[in-house]
Amino acid sequence: MTTLQDCQALDAQDPLRALRERFALPQGVIYLDGNSLGAQPKAAAARAAEVVTQEWGQDLITSWNKAGWISLPERLGNQFAPWLGVGQGELAFTDTTSINLYKVLSAAARIAREDAPGRKKLISERSNFPTDLYIAQSVCQEYGLELVLLEPEEIAGALQTDVAISMLTHVNYRTGAMHDMAAVTAAAHAKGILCVWDLCHSAGAVPVDLKGADADFAVGCSYKYLNGGPGAPAFVWAHPRLINRFWQPLSGWFGHAEPFKFVPDYHPAQGIQRYLCGTQPMISMSVLQCGIDIYTEAEAFGGMAALRKKSLALTDLFIQLVQERCQGHGLGLATPREHAARGSQVCLTREEGLGVNGQGSGAYAIVQALIARGVIGDFRKGDGGTGRHKDILRFGFTPLYVGFADVWNSVEHLRQVLESGEWQRPEFNTVHAVT
Ligand SMILES: *Cc1c(COP(=O)(O)O)cnc(C)c1O
Repeated sequence: MTTLQDCQALDAQDPLRALRERFALPQGVIYLDGNSLGAQPKAAAARAAEVVTQEWGQDLITSWNKAGWISLPERLGNQFAPWLGVGQGELAFTDTTSINLYKVLSAAARIAREDAPGRKKLISERSNFPTDLYIAQSVCQEYGLELVLLEPEEIAGALQTDVAISMLTHVNYRTGAMHDMAAVTAAAHAKGILCVWDLCHSAGAVPVDLKGADADFAVGCSYKYLNGGPGAPAFVWAHPRLINRFWQPLSGWFGHAEPFKFVPDYHPAQGIQRYLCGTQPMISMSVLQCGIDIYTEAEAFGGMAALRKKSLALTDLFIQLVQERCQGHGLGLATPREHAARGSQVCLTREEGLGVNGQGSGAYAIVQALIARGVIGDFRKGDGGTGRHKDILRFGFTPLYVGFADVWNSVEHLRQVLESGEWQRPEFNTVHAVT
C-alpha cells in the first residue's frame, strides 16, 4: 500500500520540484486540469504589466522594432522547436489551433490534388476533438474530399492508396490514448498519404519528434501544457520539403515576403513565415513567452526525459490508488495502462444509470464535488449510453507543477466524495456552460 508519507518522500526526491515554484497556483488547490488550461507562470503578471505599461503605453508603435514584437512568432517557435524535434525557422506561434489546422489541411489538400489527384479521402478518428472534425469538414467541401471517421483500431487497415490525408490527434482528449506517431506516419507514407498531426495534448506533455517521425504538418495548442494563458497563440509546423509548395489559403500580409513594401500583389515569404496571416496579439504572445521560458529552464533539469518519467509515475500512481481506494463506485479506466500508449492524463469512466435517481452517470456531479473541495479536473460528456463513449472524469498531470502528494490527496478526496455521496447534492448537479 502506498501511503501519503511515501508520496511526500517521492516529492522530496523529485528532480523537477524547483519548477513548481515557477507557478502561481492558489493555496489549497490541486490543479489537475493543466491539459485544458495550464496554470499561470508567476512571471506572467509582471510580463503582462510590462507589455501593457511600457511597450504599449510608453513606447507605442516603436515596440514592433524596439521590443521585437514583429519577430516574436518565429522567435518563440525557435525557442520551443527542440521540444518537438524540429529545426530553426520551421515553427511559428500564431493564430489558433483551429485556424492553423485549416491552413495546413488546405496546403495538404492542394499538394495531394497535384501529386495524387485520384485520392478522395481524408481520414480521421471519430473521437477526435470536434473542432478538428469541423475544420476538416470545411476543407473537404472545398477540395472535394470525403471525410472518413474511424475508430482507433480501424486506422491501420484504412491507410490505403485511396486516402489523400490522414489527420490525427497524437493524444486523444477523451481517453488520453497516444498514437505511435512514427509507426502511423511510416505506414501512411508507404501508401503515399500525407500526415497532419495535432499535438494539442502532447506538446510539452510527451516526447514528440516530428522530424524523426517524418511527419508532414503539425499544429498544436499553447494554453494547455505550455501554460501560455487562455487563448494564447497556437503553433504551426510544416516539413521543409513541403513548406514552400503552396500559399496557405489565408494569404495575409504577415505571410508576405515583404509586408512593409505594401505592394498590391501577394508574394509569400519562404519558410514558416508564410503560415502567418495578419497582425498577431502581442499582449498574449508576450505572456506566452513566460510559459515557454519554463520549458527552456526545464532543459537543465533533464528536459523531456525527466518530465516524461515523472508524468508516467504520476499517472501510474493515480491509476493504482483509484483502483485500491475507490472500488465499488462504478468507475472504469479509459486511459491505456501501457506507457507507450498513454499521454499525461488519466480518464476515468462511470457507468450510465448511476447518477441521481438513476439519471446519467453522475460523472459531472462527482467532478463538481471535487472542484468544490479544490481538486480541479474536468468532465467530458459521453454519448448517453447509446454507443461506445461513456461519460469521462478527466485528470491531467502536468509534471512541471503536480506532485505525488497531490495525487494521493486527490484520490482521497475522490474516495470521500464517492463514499459520502456528497456529489448527489443539487448544487453539483446543475450543468454550467463550460464543463
Ligand atoms: C484544445 C484543442 C483544440 C483547441 O482549438 P482552438 O482553436 O484553440 O479552440 C483543438 N484540437 C484539439 C485536439 C484540442 O485538444
